[in-house]
Amino acid sequence: MRNLDCSQEVPNDFFDTVLASKRNSNKDPDYTLRVEGYKPNVRLHFDDYNLRFGSNTLVGINPIGYNGQVRDDLLKLYKYDNSVIQKLKTEITTSINGRIINSCQNCTINAVNSLDHIVPKEEASEFSVHPKNLFPSCSQCNGIKNRFWRENGQFLFLNLYTDSLPNLQYLFPIVNYNNGVPEINFSINNPNGIDGHLYNIISSHYTRLDLINRFILDADGVVSDLQYRIHSLKGELSRQQIIDSIINYENAKRANNGYNYWKSLLTIELVNCKALMDFFFLPKVVGI
Ligand SMILES: [Zn+2]
Repeated sequence: MRNLDCSQEVPNDFFDTVLASKRNSNKDPDYTLRVEGYKPNVRLHFDDYNLRFGSNTLVGINPIGYNGQVRDDLLKLYKYDNSVIQKLKTEITTSINGRIINSCQNCTINAVNSLDHIVPKEEASEFSVHPKNLFPSCSQCNGIKNRFWRENGQFLFLNLYTDSLPNLQYLFPIVNYNNGVPEINFSINNPNGIDGHLYNIISSHYTRLDLINRFILDADGVVSDLQYRIHSLKGELSRQQIIDSIINYENAKRANNGYNYWKSLLTIELVNCKALMDFFFLPKVVGI
């Protein structure tokens, strides 16, 4: 999990570009004209959003609470397949070195195939196409988040544009080895003194998105990958050299994918499990 840079689009201009991409239908010839009429009020709320985004105080924002036709019209502005929205997604998911980050940063398990509304569009239709309110996500995370976003004045999920992830470990893999099969679990703790407010959001994010169970479901792939890597290097390097190179490689990946990137932390924990390594370094391992 890593932070992403938000879009550099000017929010009011982006709204205009999305609106310009919309066509009136024969059934509804006045659609774009009606949305033009909502713009002055929407812009006021965009200003509030921008200020709060800058000071990371979005949690206190008060949505207009539009309903009826206005709400329906504003919700219609957002469509994942719209070319303007797709261009925005490409901008946000392209790193400074030009590489596409196609993994959902809410979970780092699935590919991005949707944009999550940080302030849910159902509650705040005026932000349905605010560029800083759209975060690339997989549909699984997006579906779980649904309309939930704040409770008792606190965000329930990380805003990976504005909540700076710490370079301190809070995710801890647990590996128990039994007869060739590693049992894997994870815990979330704060022994390294992450700011309490941020840690609460991190903990809520992982719990609500059920990330630990989702990591465990996906963990066999990490174990198999490690087994193949060790097998491919066994004839070339010593056991210690292989372990050191794997740890170096995973730490380099954490620099890009996040300090608490679960696959790298798990791989490091696996190579630190002596009994498992004794098994993997047997001359011939069953299953390879
Ligand atoms: Zn996800």
